[in-house]
Amino acid sequence: MFEKILIANRGEIALRIQRACREMSIKTVVVHSEADAEAKYVKLADESVCIGPPASSGSYLNIPAIISAAEVTDAEAIHPGYGFLSENADFAERVEQSGFVFIGPRAETIRLMGDKVSAKNAMKKAGIPVVPGIDSTLPDDPKEIIKMGREIGYPVIVKSAGGGGGRGMRTVHTEAALLNAVNTTRAEAQAAFGNPAVYIEKFLEKPRHIEIQVLADKHRNAIYLGDRDCSMQRRHQKVIEEAPAPHINPRARLRIGERCAEACRKIGYEGAGTFEFLYENGEFYFIEMNTRVQVEHPVTEMITGIDIVQQQIRIACNEKLPVKQRDVQLRGHAIECRINAEDPYKFTPSPGRITSLHMPGGPGIRVDSHAYSGYFVPPYYDSLIGKIIAYGDTREQAIARLHVALSETVIEGIKTNISLHQDLLHDSAFVRGGTSIHYLEEKLAKLATKQ
Ligand code: ADP
Repeated sequence: MFEKILIANRGEIALRIQRACREMSIKTVVVHSEADAEAKYVKLADESVCIGPPASSGSYLNIPAIISAAEVTDAEAIHPGYGFLSENADFAERVEQSGFVFIGPRAETIRLMGDKVSAKNAMKKAGIPVVPGIDSTLPDDPKEIIKMGREIGYPVIVKSAGGGGGRGMRTVHTEAALLNAVNTTRAEAQAAFGNPAVYIEKFLEKPRHIEIQVLADKHRNAIYLGDRDCSMQRRHQKVIEEAPAPHINPRARLRIGERCAEACRKIGYEGAGTFEFLYENGEFYFIEMNTRVQVEHPVTEMITGIDIVQQQIRIACNEKLPVKQRDVQLRGHAIECRINAEDPYKFTPSPGRITSLHMPGGPGIRVDSHAYSGYFVPPYYDSLIGKIIAYGDTREQAIARLHVALSETVIEGIKTNISLHQDLLHDSAFVRGGTSIHYLEEKLAKLATKQ
C-alpha cells in the first residue's frame, strides 16, 4: 500500500479522502490555496503545501505547482477528488510521467470519456443504450445541421462535446431556432471549455436522472454498486440524491448494471466511475460517464457498506476488488442533501464567516463537511459546504431521519439552502419518489409567481 498520498483538492472532498487515508494508515499531503490556509482539514493533514493564490487557475488547477508539491513531500500517489483536475487527461498523464500514481482511470480513458461524443460512441459499441442523436459533432454547414435536426425530430438539445457541470446546453423546440442555438452554444463552449465542438441529441421531455456506480480493478474485474437517483436538479446541478433509485424494477437495474460492468471490462476501465443515464418510460439512455468519485458517492456507500474512496486507492495500488458481484448487497435506503452557502430561493452565493455551527447526529446520520464554527467560506469556489446523509431501513425512515437531522442543524453567519431541503422533503411528489429532472425548477417557478 502507498505510504503517502497527495490530495489535490479542497473542502469536504479533501477531508473525505484524508479520512479514508488515515483509516488505512496512509500519510496525507494536502495542497491548498492562500484562501484555504486556515481550514482545519489542512491542519489535520500530515503535511500541507500552499500552491498559489485564491483563484483556482493559480492553485487547484496549477499542474506544475501540484507536481512540485508531490516531489518535495515524497508523495507516491495523487488523488484528484472531483471537479478541478479530476477529469483532466493531461494532468493524469503528467502525474504518471513525473513518477507518481494517478488515483483514477488511465489518461486515455479519461480522454475518451471527456469528449461526450466519443464517449457515446464507445458506449454504444460496448452495448449501452444511448440517447438517440447524431454520432458526430456538428459540421459548419448550416444545411447539414438542419438536416440532422430533422433526422432526430424536435425537441432536440444542443450540447458541448467537452462540457461539464451542467453548462453549455440548450434546448431547441423548433427548426427555426436551431442555428442560433448552435452558434450561441458553440461560443459558450469555447469560452467555458476551450472547445467549440457541439452535438445534438433528442431532448427527453420528462426523464429521470439515474446513474450506476461502478468499480473496476486493473485485473479486468468490474462490479456495479446499484443505482442512484439524482433527478432533483436546478440548472442541471444536483440538489438531492438517493440510493437506490425509487420505483425501478430490480430486473431492469440488474440488466443495466451488468451492461455497465461489462462495458468497463471491454474498455479496460480502472477505478471508480459513474455511468449517467436519463430514464424515461422504463428505458435507460446513456448521457455521459464520470471518471472520478462523485459528490453523491456516500449514498451508495451507505447501502452497500463499500468505501468507494478506499477502493479507488486500493485499485490504484494494483489490488484486486475484494468482492464479486454476487457479494454486493443493496440494503436499506440513503438520501443526501447538498448543503450550499447560498440563498435558499434566490441561489445567490453567501460566502463569509460561519459564526455558529451545530451538525446533526444520531442513528443513520452521516455528515461529510469541512465546515466548523468560525470557518470562513471563501468566495472563490463552489458553494458546497457539506452533505447531510440519512440512512434508513426504508425510504420513509431515511426521509424521517433527514427531517430530524435538518431540524437539528444550525449554521449561522451565512445563508444556506437548508430551508429549501426542508420544503422538498415535505413535498408530496418527492415523498412518492420518481420525479423528473424538471420537477424542482417547475416547483421553484411556481413558488416565485406566488411571492
Ligand atoms: P454535464 O456533464 O454538464 O453534467 P450531462 O450530459 O450529464 O452534462 O447532462 C446534465 C443534465 O442535463 C442531465 O442530468 C439532464 O438534466 C440534462 N440533459 C442532458 N441531456 C439531456 C437530454 N438529451 N434530454 C433532456 N435533458 C438532458
